[in-house]
Amino acid sequence: MQSSDYQEILKELEVGFDPDNIYFQTITSILQAAELIKLPRNLKIILAQPQNEIMVHFPVLMDDGSYKLFKGYRVQHNNVLGPFKGGIRFHSQIGLDHIKALSAIMTIKNALIQLPFGGAKGGLKIDPRSVSHSELMRLTRRFTSALQSHIGPSYDIPAPDMGTNAQIMAWMADTYTVLGPQNLRLEGKGVVTGKPLEFGGSHGREKATGQGVVFIMEEILPEMGLSLSNISYSLIGYGNVGSWTARLLSRHGSILKTVMDHTGAIINKKGLDTELLAKYVEKTGGLAGFSGGKSITEDEFYSTQVDCFIPAAMEQMIDQKRAAQIQCKVVVEAANAPVTPAGERVLVKKGISILPAILCNAGGVTVSYFEWKQNRQAEVWEPDFVDQQLQKMMSAAAQRVKKTAAKLKCDMKSAAYATALEYLGKVYNYRGIFP
Ligand code: NAD
Repeated sequence: MQSSDYQEILKELEVGFDPDNIYFQTITSILQAAELIKLPRNLKIILAQPQNEIMVHFPVLMDDGSYKLFKGYRVQHNNVLGPFKGGIRFHSQIGLDHIKALSAIMTIKNALIQLPFGGAKGGLKIDPRSVSHSELMRLTRRFTSALQSHIGPSYDIPAPDMGTNAQIMAWMADTYTVLGPQNLRLEGKGVVTGKPLEFGGSHGREKATGQGVVFIMEEILPEMGLSLSNISYSLIGYGNVGSWTARLLSRHGSILKTVMDHTGAIINKKGLDTELLAKYVEKTGGLAGFSGGKSITEDEFYSTQVDCFIPAAMEQMIDQKRAAQIQCKVVVEAANAPVTPAGERVLVKKGISILPAILCNAGGVTVSYFEWKQNRQAEVWEPDFVDQQLQKMMSAAAQRVKKTAAKLKCDMKSAAYATALEYLGKVYNYRGIFP
């Protein structure tokens, strides 16, 4: 059998065939979409590898007087559109391929929304729940100092992701400005987004990713005969993205039937109280023991019949087995890459639509862009203005994806990737490749 261009490129770049590897899966999706729009081969090769892969090791003083060595990553995938941009994750199960995949996804996501940013991602191999507040601060500051010469408000701008939050962003911004030149203290805090409101953050950033998910659902679900005012849904993850998506959906009348996080899964057929659950999870760290729902097994969670299924936790959770259990009309990808290619094939075969992550969860980076803009102009935008601008940009991106899907007669995910790649292709065409 003759191998296609993308298989040749993977071979040329020595990306081994490994269907379970998230980097292999991500690059394959990008290259397959690139084939749909006949992107020039040289651009496919550029986009199939990150520009810079930074790996750091550093010691941190622990509360008991011992020193522990930590491993951190920052992968800068592409900056043809502007400074590298993407989250920093604190998690015990991350590796270089994982961060490389997420950095490539950021390039594509930023191009889809047409933000003036390239793509990057970072991570620290640590379970943030396993360290004290002061240890967390020391390791955040040491990690930031190790990255000091690789990041900057005009070069690479991290943001929160899994296991990180506004407090961690504040420590990063403070460390970066303290270590930087005296006369750049004001600009320095623009090195990260997702900061606390009082320290250069933006209104609406904390809920931004969930808000973006809801805007996309509002835009697309009615075309599938579904209305936010009466849909039922299942949710994986009740952290930043999951809990905000749920709380905002409740304001429309949607019913959260089942939810699962790292501590267990619960059900309430009449609908879980999303605000009470958010307060409970904030206090206890997980949903196990919440009295407003009945505990269920993971198999029961996946098999519950709902209108929408919203993964908002880890990557690759919906594999072949889980996809076979899911009973819904549409999967709304709030997490990055939550469905494996094998899982996707099963969902498609069952007639389940998938709203792609690079569209659904782009609200976070979009409001990060607003924060960066406000920092540069020393401005503070009103909350309603942030929401209006976010809805405008998310809706425009959704329209572009729908147009591409109709033109190429393809699914929404391929259309989202193709739309982004077409934009990147145009920019490369104007800029050319140096020298
Ligand atoms: P978070 O750390 O705030 O929450 C993560 C949630 O996932 C928690 O509820 C946790 O219990 C749950 N979880 C972890 N492991 C699990 C497991 N094995 N089974 C079930 N649940 C599990 O993270 P977040 O910021 O909400 O990010 C969630 C996803 O959204 C990630 O894929 C992230 O990359 C993506 N994302 C986040 C943002 C953002 O602004 N925070 C933006 C875009 C995309």
